[in-house]
Amino acid sequence: MDAGEVLRLDREHVWHPYTAVPSGTPVHVVRRAGGVRITLGDGRELIDGMASWWAAIHGHNHPRLNRAARDQIDDMAHVMFGGLTHEPAVRLAHRLAGMTGLDRVFLADSGSVAVEVAIKMAVQYSGRSALLTVRGGYHGDTFGAMSVCDPVNGMHHLFTGMLPRHVFAPAPPDDYGRRPAAKSEAGPDEAYLAELTAAVEVHAARLAAIIVEPVVQGAGGMRFYHPAYLRRLRELADEHGILLIADEIATGFGRTGEMFGCDHAGIRPDIMCVGKALTGGYLTLAATLCTARVADRIGVLMHGPTYMGNPLACAVAGASLDLLAERPWREEVARIEAALLDGLAPAAAAPGVRDVRVLGAIGVIETDQPVDVAKIQDIVMGHGVWLRPFGRLIYTMPPYACTPDDVARIADAMVAATAAL
Ligand SMILES: *Cc1c(COP(=O)(O)O)cnc(C)c1O
Repeated sequence: MDAGEVLRLDREHVWHPYTAVPSGTPVHVVRRAGGVRITLGDGRELIDGMASWWAAIHGHNHPRLNRAARDQIDDMAHVMFGGLTHEPAVRLAHRLAGMTGLDRVFLADSGSVAVEVAIKMAVQYSGRSALLTVRGGYHGDTFGAMSVCDPVNGMHHLFTGMLPRHVFAPAPPDDYGRRPAAKSEAGPDEAYLAELTAAVEVHAARLAAIIVEPVVQGAGGMRFYHPAYLRRLRELADEHGILLIADEIATGFGRTGEMFGCDHAGIRPDIMCVGKALTGGYLTLAATLCTARVADRIGVLMHGPTYMGNPLACAVAGASLDLLAERPWREEVARIEAALLDGLAPAAAAPGVRDVRVLGAIGVIETDQPVDVAKIQDIVMGHGVWLRPFGRLIYTMPPYACTPDDVARIADAMVAATAAL
């Protein structure tokens, strides 16, 4: 098919994320992806400034990940996980347990499902059904996950009556990370710590769990909050015998400068969800991990997806974690952080810009008004960069494999886009 035919049939049949058919915003045909670049149907090359939604940390079409997929497919692509097991899944579970200190691993097929499983774990563990979270969060698009997304910028208004009503503490102040003008990071806000404490104490008796994205709130607003708030939630959970669920689906595997978001706070959750970068952007796979204590009390966990523990996905995830262990990701992420801080600095003074912030390999320009996505994309694509802005956010989380020059190009494209505000 030529690119025109792909687009014609796409418009006729295919739903894209959060769109109508046909999509109201432009859709671009991709021919191939390699390294940190995506090649479009017309031959244009774009740096994947989104790492394809946090996932492609090593870049696309990586020889090691390709080999892992090929080697595995010659053995088996998939077998059911009910009553059967295999080395790729067991190896991965052992590996994840070693990385997190959480010994029991449920392999799920997407991040949202991993969050559903985490919620089921907490409910089965406690016999309670209420969850506490903070506003500004994002946990996925299935019903349980949606119910703990921010109730205003999430999808609550579309599904009122279908969603259980959970407890929402105020959004944490987004006072963490680095800003071009600021000399140092702000300390934790004592008034907010008090609000958080009060919210947990009022509802403690009916809470199954507290669920948050550690330190970085992703799709809910790209906000960075002080680890002291996470530490307080850990203390409160312990004090009241409530489980703490860390949704590390976006933050996991080095993105924020630490291996996991929780590492900023030096805490361990009772339940953790990982996904997105788990397979290095190759296949859909996620996992929900918990302590042996939690698993023992749950006993039989009532969940079991058809493609649970898919060997192909597990084999690629294993290879991706090998690569992560070998690459100097801490230095790479620190270099990206410095390059983003430097490159995005001119945006801080641009009209229509509310805030510029960076944490690890995440760079954000927050605007005063919602952006015109097509217009912004047009500008950044003109600079050879692929980004997917939303709401009041023009942001990037590039592959760790980006060179300093790639990162500078992304930052320049973002700064150029502020001219359209
Ligand atoms: C993306 C994301 C999810 C949902 O993962 P899917 O694989 O898209 O279902 C859940 N939580 C967080 C924090 C995410 O960033």
